[in-house]
Amino acid sequence: MSYVDEIYAQVAKKNEHEPEFLQAVKEVLESLKPVIEQNEETYRKAGLLERMVEPERIISFRVPWVDDAGNVQVNRGYRVQFNSAIGPYKGGLRLHPSVNQSILKFLGFEQVFKNSLTGLPIGGGKGGSDFDPKGKSDREVMAFCQSFMTELYRHIGADCDVPAGDIGVGGREIGYLYGQYKRITGLYEGVLTGKGLTYGGSLARKEATGYGLIYILDEMLKNAGKELAGKTVVISGSGNVAIYACEKAQEHGAKVIALSDSNGYIVDPEGIQLDLVKEIKEVKRGRIKEYADAVASASYHEGKGIWSVPCDIALPCATQNELNLEDAQCLKKNGCFAVAEGANMPSTLDATNYFVSEGILYMPAKAANAGGVATSALEMSQNSERQSWTFAEVDAKLKDIMVNIYHKTADAAKRCGHEGNFVVGANVAGFEKVADAMLAQGIC
Ligand code: NDP
Repeated sequence: MSYVDEIYAQVAKKNEHEPEFLQAVKEVLESLKPVIEQNEETYRKAGLLERMVEPERIISFRVPWVDDAGNVQVNRGYRVQFNSAIGPYKGGLRLHPSVNQSILKFLGFEQVFKNSLTGLPIGGGKGGSDFDPKGKSDREVMAFCQSFMTELYRHIGADCDVPAGDIGVGGREIGYLYGQYKRITGLYEGVLTGKGLTYGGSLARKEATGYGLIYILDEMLKNAGKELAGKTVVISGSGNVAIYACEKAQEHGAKVIALSDSNGYIVDPEGIQLDLVKEIKEVKRGRIKEYADAVASASYHEGKGIWSVPCDIALPCATQNELNLEDAQCLKKNGCFAVAEGANMPSTLDATNYFVSEGILYMPAKAANAGGVATSALEMSQNSERQSWTFAEVDAKLKDIMVNIYHKTADAAKRCGHEGNFVVGANVAGFEKVADAMLAQGIC
């Protein structure tokens, strides 16, 4: 049995109740086979893969808080500190009822390679809770965040672990978390990213994941002799990543015709009016359906099904496994030629393999959505030097990083004999730096 197959079998046995984690490990290990086989003896001797698939630490804790009716509620909080070989743990906090250890381990594992790809000195981690911020008052969200941080603060720090936002964690939640960290520790330090601009946040962080997605998409299209201008785009989700991907795609002259949330999707053949979406989602915290109520050219469709809307380019920006093989086949049948992932692992393994085998221009999440964490690292740099860079400076650095990630990914794919397969490229390019650092640091 090859080293890769052996390790996967061990991981599958040890983590049999963690399907998302197993899915992520399988995808990464499969695509690393050519590189691992070349160095098998060294890697085996150092137990490299065994260590890479095991988080350095998982912290799980009780989060008690009191709701507006005076009832005590208890959620479960987590921080998965996956790998610190190349820098302090870095990765978001997710607040969603679906959160469990498997999902956070898959996200933390992916984050290790993504962070490496950015070229910046950041390790990988992820955290969150099964708390659902939807429908909660601001006071309830604050009470939860304060309680969550009252436990988490002892495990994080500007030079050790720097969380950020993810699903359900935006500016409001980061503010409450930061306030509580400062109150407990007395430290005014860059311990969280995605902070507000008045207390150490970076310009362009809010936009970064969505903008970065479009920068790398644009580079991928250019290198394939195509362009974004004039193309029809479908984007799933209507949260932070989806909104700013839509904004930048429109700036590039693309026509975005569909967005969604967990209830359903809207189609506007005239092109999405983004100001209205921002008002509904960022200000009123409403549902995407309200867009169709307000715009005559738009229609609302309950449930999944956004991938049946014909488009040239699809950008899944909602959540994991939101696009399956059937969806992928439907996209191809309708003429879609490019897919770039704003969300983490939005395509099932079948769908991913289909995109690759059908020659769709396909940029996987760990390369495509790395702009968020890269700009978080830029926020850390600004915090350390007590400086604030302009929007243009941060945006230019983000663009540079995304263009670089495209080329690193494309070059690694070519080097391994898989030209155009950006899944292999991203995994290999991300893996190499982490592997070298782990080997250099000995068995730890
Ligand atoms: P938000 O919470 O801002 O938005 C999430 C969007 O996805 C919402 O429209 C939400 O709908 C929808 N959604 C969430 N869960 C589901 C589900 N189970 N089924 C269908 N739709 C769902 O999160 P972000 O935009 O920040 O994150 C989106 C994705 O991007 C995630 O995979 C995240 O890990 C990834 N990502 C985010 C980064 C960031 O900087 N924010 C960085 C890198 C990756 P509803 O409101 O109905 O729940």
